[in-house]
Amino acid sequence: MAARVIPVDPFDLVIFGGTGDLARRKILPGLYRRFHAGQMPDTARIIGAARSEMSSDEYREFVRAAVIEFVSPALCEAEQVAAFLSRLAYVAIDARGDGGWAALKSEVRGDVVQAFYFSVAPGLFGDLAERLHAHGIAGPDARIVVEKPFGRDAASARALNQSLAAHFREEQIYRIDHYLGKETVQNLMAVRFGNVLFEPLWNAQFVDHIQISVAETVGVGGRGEYYDKSGAMRDMVQNHLMQLLCLIAMEPPNRFEPDAVRDEKLKVIRALEPVPADDIVRGQYRSEGDLPGYLDEVGSPESRTESFIALKVQVANWRWNGTPFYLRTGKRMAARLSEIVVVFKEPPHAIFGDEAGSEANKLVIRLQPDEGMTLTVTIKEPGPGGMRLIEVPLDMSFAEALGPENAEMPDAYERLIMDVIRGNQTLFMRGDEVEAAWRWTDPLIEAWEKRGDRPKPYRPGTSGPEDALALLHRDGRRWRDLEA
Ligand code: NAP
Repeated sequence: MAARVIPVDPFDLVIFGGTGDLARRKILPGLYRRFHAGQMPDTARIIGAARSEMSSDEYREFVRAAVIEFVSPALCEAEQVAAFLSRLAYVAIDARGDGGWAALKSEVRGDVVQAFYFSVAPGLFGDLAERLHAHGIAGPDARIVVEKPFGRDAASARALNQSLAAHFREEQIYRIDHYLGKETVQNLMAVRFGNVLFEPLWNAQFVDHIQISVAETVGVGGRGEYYDKSGAMRDMVQNHLMQLLCLIAMEPPNRFEPDAVRDEKLKVIRALEPVPADDIVRGQYRSEGDLPGYLDEVGSPESRTESFIALKVQVANWRWNGTPFYLRTGKRMAARLSEIVVVFKEPPHAIFGDEAGSEANKLVIRLQPDEGMTLTVTIKEPGPGGMRLIEVPLDMSFAEALGPENAEMPDAYERLIMDVIRGNQTLFMRGDEVEAAWRWTDPLIEAWEKRGDRPKPYRPGTSGPEDALALLHRDGRRWRDLEA
């Protein structure tokens, strides 16, 4: 059963920062894959924009190289690549200057969907919004797409929101969190709200706790200078982990519509309790062998920025009272993996006796690698050994369940860009959500900065500092192993 591809309406997509790393690795290859899948109408056009002087032909060569590098060779037939490149153009433009805007205006049509992707540093968002408006390029229904980081605290996020709101309505603004574009994340909503099986159990009465882990094996590498100003809390928790937490914890929206979903997510963020210092563990990876440590990589021996964080978070509402959410994310860890584990409570009475063993049911929602879901259930160990209980997985690996033609999931970016063209904001963060997330995050960061806490060192290739394990052990729980 091949996935259905529904073409989107004709569009002009302008990528500001069209020569940057994100455009090269994600946006342009993603657009090519959608083109190859037949989702782009014949008249769709993509216009790269950045300060560098280059002709449209030179830009096409740049994009050709990006497509060849980042798209599977099986999809790169010469005539398909050439047809895709024929839709491209390039305009040299400085977000802070006035040159190039007239040329851009002549490239962008008024009678198709207009989308402007701000794939540039956030400091340029306001300039771009203002000039698009001043030069009369963006029509009344034009969409703008902005990237993370969306601010570094509540005040800067509010200022960014205001700079965009000066020229665009909220319905026109698409704040990307690419975690929300993952197939499994949307499936999480389908599983929760499209079945009767889970929702009655989805509360503090039946769920013991929830774990959300996003682990990377790489260090900060070349991003050291940027990362050291941000750290794991700002870079990952405030946005990606928070969004995942919201989707797990939210009430069923009355319809699967943008504002209905986003209203429910916002209520979760507002219900988050402040986290006491004892419930936060911050870490920095050490050097080992040839591998440089965090402090070497950022070149700042006194840095107190965390490359790892684990937190115990409480959602103060009826549904979740007493069920903690344990979040952890870090670099240089044992595996590259993103997953959510919903750990259910054990049956109230052990009728098979304590010797039979018992395991709580778990729903493991895997975002990467191998997107899919697994529900573990308890069964009798086969054989004549008496009534002994073991845990087996009921597997829902998408690759197996849906057939090989669907095994390669569309990248989150390509899915989200198509949603922009369709005008569907469900999987994008609303301005008030982002600000609320910062309002919860800010006091936690301020508190550890004020105390002068130093992150705990941890060995590369592990699950982070020992204290992160203790965060669960002291509650009689343990993290699921980090196994890719
Ligand atoms: P990058 O590689 O530094 O690229 C920046 C792009 O912006 C280049 O095309 C650059 O081209 C252009 N640019 C810079 N100043 C400009 C100006 N004044 N006017 C017009 N264009 C200008 O950055 P990136 O990694 O692609 O990141 C872009 C945005 O996405 C950032 O906000 C970043 O935080 C976010 N992001 C990136 C990633 C990623 O994986 N790379 C992931 C998540 C979020 P010229 O120098 O020729 O102008």
